[in-house]
Amino acid sequence: MTIQFRNQNTISKSVSVQGVGYWSGLEASVEFRPAAPDTGIIFVRADISGQPRIAVQPENCVDIPRRTCIQSGSACVEMIEHLMAALAGLQIDNCEIWVDRAEVPAFDGSCIEVVEKLQSVDLVSQPISKPTFVIEEEIRLEADGCWIAAYPHQTRSNNLTLTYQLDYEAAVIGQQEIELVVTPDAFKKELASARTFLLEVEAEWLRSQGLGRNVSFSDLLVFGPEGLIGNTLRYSDECVRHKALDAVGDLAVAGFDIAGHVVAHKSGHRVNGLFVKKLVDAFDASQGKRLSA
Ligand SMILES: [Zn+2]
Repeated sequence: MTIQFRNQNTISKSVSVQGVGYWSGLEASVEFRPAAPDTGIIFVRADISGQPRIAVQPENCVDIPRRTCIQSGSACVEMIEHLMAALAGLQIDNCEIWVDRAEVPAFDGSCIEVVEKLQSVDLVSQPISKPTFVIEEEIRLEADGCWIAAYPHQTRSNNLTLTYQLDYEAAVIGQQEIELVVTPDAFKKELASARTFLLEVEAEWLRSQGLGRNVSFSDLLVFGPEGLIGNTLRYSDECVRHKALDAVGDLAVAGFDIAGHVVAHKSGHRVNGLFVKKLVDAFDASQGKRLSA
């Protein structure tokens, strides 16, 4: 059986969302616009003269703690991972994202508002297939006490199966694991509503650094020693679901679909980003092999 590759997709017309950035506390507006096949995902800083464009690709990713940021020249966009997750989860491959701030809105800490907004317009199939990396041998990256690996599927399938293993020293979060086949329906139902979380001590430290001034307990999940503070869980294992959402967004930076099983053990944006670079190198090498074979 040969693997069936899917066509690329864009959206039928532009949609906009507004909200406040976690780190900056500033209001920002985001407009998703349709884009031609093979465009990929491109951010446009509408608030900077010349409206610089920043393509979402590994070379443009910069290492900032706790979030995924992209930069080209002096223009950057921060905290793109939840928007990337929403687009990747819905298989929207080509899109221009016009933003009027350096940091995009955090919404409720999840990407469900973005998913619903993107689904308020039609998905448009484009007559070019999406590049897909069929994993044929293990690719693994280990760093910072965590690891992430891609394994071949046992049966030929073009799906991405994702397993995320969370292991927090803090007993209020503890060990959680989720495994799912990442389809648009499963993404929306199982991951899109899962919110960002952190420990109370981390929240206090961030506040002391002047960050997150406009963020309250209702805007994300904050866990104290006794449990969740001032909020209610949407899933009993909401934390691991959010980590899986983050991983979907981080993996999408590769620019191709992954046909295989990705297992992530405690990895965050930094390690996911290093893994994506390794995947891209392996994909390029396999393309070369195929071309010369
Ligand atoms: Zn996140």
